[in-house]
Amino acid sequence: MNFISTRDVTEKVSFSKAILQGLTSEGGLFVPETFPTITKAEFAEMLDMSYDERANLILSKYMTDFKIEEIAECTKIAYDRFEEDPAPVVKIDEGVYLLELFHGPTLAFKDMALTLFPQILAKARVKEGQKEDILVLVATSGDTGKAALEGFKDIHGIKILTFFPEEGVSPMQKLQMTTQDGENVGVVAVKGNFDNCQTGVKEIFQDKEFEREVAKNGYVFSSANSINLGRLLPQIVYYFSTYADLVSDGEIEMGDSINFSVPTGNFGNILAGYYAMEMGLPVKKFICASNSNNVLTEFFTEGKYDANREFFKTMSPSMDILISSNLERLLFQASGCDSESIKLRMEQLKETGKFEATAKEMAFFDKYFYATSADEEDTARTINLFYDEYGYALDPHTAVGVFCQDEYVVEESDYDNLVVIATASPYKFSHDVLKAIKAKVSDDPFKNAKTLRSKTAVEIPKNIANLEFEEVRFTDVFEVSEMKKAVLSFIKGEIGKSEAK
Ligand SMILES: *Cc1c(COP(=O)(O)O)cnc(C)c1O
Repeated sequence: MNFISTRDVTEKVSFSKAILQGLTSEGGLFVPETFPTITKAEFAEMLDMSYDERANLILSKYMTDFKIEEIAECTKIAYDRFEEDPAPVVKIDEGVYLLELFHGPTLAFKDMALTLFPQILAKARVKEGQKEDILVLVATSGDTGKAALEGFKDIHGIKILTFFPEEGVSPMQKLQMTTQDGENVGVVAVKGNFDNCQTGVKEIFQDKEFEREVAKNGYVFSSANSINLGRLLPQIVYYFSTYADLVSDGEIEMGDSINFSVPTGNFGNILAGYYAMEMGLPVKKFICASNSNNVLTEFFTEGKYDANREFFKTMSPSMDILISSNLERLLFQASGCDSESIKLRMEQLKETGKFEATAKEMAFFDKYFYATSADEEDTARTINLFYDEYGYALDPHTAVGVFCQDEYVVEESDYDNLVVIATASPYKFSHDVLKAIKAKVSDDPFKNAKTLRSKTAVEIPKNIANLEFEEVRFTDVFEVSEMKKAVLSFIKGEIGKSEAK
């Protein structure tokens, strides 16, 4: 299996090369040359498999330059870090389910890929005989940063630096990052929003001169953002796993189609679902659920992508995104792999903030996707209604998914097997959840966690409870224009207090 560039189909590389490289040489994204399929027999076997085994089967179709034992070593380390089942499907009502993807070390769905990706990247580095150490740069709107730091900490041959928007993450998310342990990690706050951080990292990756400067210090760059193929592919697994669980539990029959509602920001999660469908998973519709930053809703309904709009800071910060990077991969498929037209439009997007879809592409989107959005009021109301009805506290991201699913059901009168992807633990956003259910809210995030505990049946995850007693290690703040400077400071060991261990 080879991977090609969305912007030049003649650029072809192996899996290991693709994940080491991150972006393609013209700034495009790597996509599989063709989609492998899961046969009926494999699907049937999957029913009795553990999550690791399901991951091994699906990933082996893409990671053809890895031995199956190597893949299994990686998935074991990764998924052992989860509480129990990494991706439990919780039945909420008849035909309505939540796929809980927040039982990993940082309590958000990014753990699904970021516990695994560093293991794979470390092996790919050895496979390709790379001498230099890898310097991973991450731009985060909150959850990716912490998940990446946890995934990469103390991995040999790799260092990781995370940039987050100073004012754009929740207090708990900020603490999670600034208290991070590990010898090879760095965390920097940027005076800007997430898009500034992401664009800054992209520019660093494309700056050849800076690349040489960093190479002189013995490092090569890699990205751990969801544009890296190594982030995307592990996410395919839980779509299959959900289906297998629903069949095993007698909720659906093999062959029935299901719908997924996916709280969406950078379009990585929902894109992995689309890849699963291309591999043979019976999905009817993917509901692309956005918050007030509803650039994708407009794109899927009107065919016009326009990032020139007001940026809203919402209670679902991991979806506060105006440049949805992984959309490029879907557009590539929708266009019939027309890399020339993708290249052109991504240049337009960079220069003008806009591009348009063709009629053919719109027909493709309509077939598989339904897009809508929830504003702040919709989100809060959904948390409250859901809590009243089921005693279950949704985090704000998941609430956006639930609201958008309800819109879909009403508009399309489709009540078939609806799975909403629950992307974060409500404990990461106690403040907003308590406000929504009209409970007493404090300025102290730990007090809020305790109040939420008194209202629900779910224990406070220990990774949040323990934060209260950890020391803040990273306090550096940089301007958007100084991100390169931050990288050099990090290489010199000047970021954060060194760990007293
Ligand atoms: C990252 C994230 C999302 C959005 O996922 P994308 O893959 O960027 O679309 C939604 N919810 C939470 C909690 C997240 O961390």
